[in-house]
Amino acid sequence: MTRTGRFAPSPTGDLHWGSLLVALGSWLEARAAGGRWLLRIEDVDTRRAVPGAAARQQAQLAALGLTADAPAWVQSARGEAYAQALRRLAQAGHAYPCACTRGDLAGHGGVHPPRCVRPVRGDTHAWRLRVPAGITTFDDALQGCFEQDVRRAVGDFVLRRADGLWAYQLAVVVDDAACGITDVVRGADLLDSTPRQILLQHLLRLPTPRYLHLPMLVDTHGRKLSKSAGATALSDDPMLALRITLRLLGQHAAAGIDAAHPAALLARAVRRYDPSLLPRVCRLVAPQSGGTNATRTLHGTHRMRGDAR
Ligand code: GLU
Repeated sequence: MTRTGRFAPSPTGDLHWGSLLVALGSWLEARAAGGRWLLRIEDVDTRRAVPGAAARQQAQLAALGLTADAPAWVQSARGEAYAQALRRLAQAGHAYPCACTRGDLAGHGGVHPPRCVRPVRGDTHAWRLRVPAGITTFDDALQGCFEQDVRRAVGDFVLRRADGLWAYQLAVVVDDAACGITDVVRGADLLDSTPRQILLQHLLRLPTPRYLHLPMLVDTHGRKLSKSAGATALSDDPMLALRITLRLLGQHAAAGIDAAHPAALLARAVRRYDPSLLPRVCRLVAPQSGGTNATRTLHGTHRMRGDAR
């Protein structure tokens, strides 16, 4: 099976340092394995999608030389595939309609109890997954072994919201399988979504890809970068942005490559890519104009565990 990676931004604004870290990390992982790299616009939450953002993100990626192997996959056009998956789950007794509100669940710590608090009347209701008891475990290629008792941690989670919007968890599982994704590289903020996705893959009899969750970017004080403070805005200079991000990914040798344009830098970076140098912490010092020295990473290195490929 061809190794296939993907980058799946939500079109809520321009790409920033955190998203470039994931885009380049997933691109390098796929390309270093001789694999394909796809782009998916995750616009299932149409209320959060910003008009024009998807096109701007694609233009930013193109300027950086990060081109996908197929036209972008767009989630808002995939409703029928998600509906089919939900039907399969419901027919097998794994999904059920639910009219409980957030307020109803507040007394349960936000975790849906085994039985609904509010009866379903009419058509305005969500669909939830009936989460089986047990521990879901996976071996993340960077973070190591991760396990979660999904029923206790999140309870029966939403697959389709009462307002008709598809939940991220269902959409991502259906699309990763439909695109033949073998390698998911994304931010560690999604680490605890992964057990829910693995559960869905099992119930839908879909393959589980290999997962690698990159660290979240933090500032010099170890705090999450604040978008409002403008700390996350990408450099306008694609070569500078790529070099800084290569360093953040621990690929210092690649960052120093002398190249005339992004495609040349990337082609050589992929040859030097060393996943054992991926950092556990990515610390970004806001870049000042004119050089790469303003940025550094502090990292403990981590070897890939076993041969997960
Ligand atoms: N759309 C998600 C984000 O922008 C990424 C989802 C994923 O990679 O699974 O954070």
